[in-house]
Amino acid sequence: MKIANIRNQACVVLDGNRAYAISQESKGRFGPGMPEVLADWQSFIAWAADHQATETFSFTEEALGPVSPRPSQIFAIGLNYDEHSRETGLAVDKTFPPVFPKWSSSLAAPFAALALPRDASIDWEVELVAVIGRSGRNITRENALSHIAGYAIGQDFSNRPMQFIGSAPQFGLAKSHAGFSPVGPWIVTADELGDFKGRTIQCEVDGEVRQSGTLDQMIFSVSDIIAILSEIVALEPGDLIFTGTPSGVGYSRKPPLFLASGSEISSSIEGLGTIRQKITSVA
Ligand code: ZN
Repeated sequence: MKIANIRNQACVVLDGNRAYAISQESKGRFGPGMPEVLADWQSFIAWAADHQATETFSFTEEALGPVSPRPSQIFAIGLNYDEHSRETGLAVDKTFPPVFPKWSSSLAAPFAALALPRDASIDWEVELVAVIGRSGRNITRENALSHIAGYAIGQDFSNRPMQFIGSAPQFGLAKSHAGFSPVGPWIVTADELGDFKGRTIQCEVDGEVRQSGTLDQMIFSVSDIIAILSEIVALEPGDLIFTGTPSGVGYSRKPPLFLASGSEISSSIEGLGTIRQKITSVA
């Protein structure tokens, strides 16, 4: 099943660009927005599984908003693909991954333009984003996937000079400028996405492939990440976890390559779809 945020209404996407509004079809039991649906996720999924929509509508990609517009937390995992850690020259600790926040004011719609911040060098990182659908602490690896509502595509845009400024790095701020966390186009439930094996994750800039990998190359699986995080923090419905990026980022290239005004970046995961941003100059 695919669930989208269409003009701040939680909607089930049927096929192509047709959807129904969950609040209207459930006569107010679920919704109206994504936060309410995510807060009652298990009941919603059980209801939606055999609901026959009475009224559907068509939508355009511009109508889509972030899949979880008000998460209590956004986590991001660093160095979760071997080849990416090699290209950065940063060593991987295979017992505990680097974790940093992306603050929620950086969330953006999946097809919103990105205005480059002044004096910044902006890099791309396509990532699988796990959306939490059940709260918990001390979640075991065996139970971890039952806490996932589903998956979406995210871009972890990164201001590289700021990220490495000073003696203690500034990952959180450097990845939280306005528009730096587009997520979408919708939540795809785990049963619909299926096995990660061989599923491609890819990022293109102006039609040229910059990053390409497969989801099964992740060092820490989604279950590992949920177990590790929830030993320390409580996870809540709507929380987002960016699970790391494959190789091909711009700052590791010689010479380094960054986003330029006028470019278009598209990020895709097989089975989830594509998100896309037009890059504009400073507002
Ligand atoms: Zn990242």
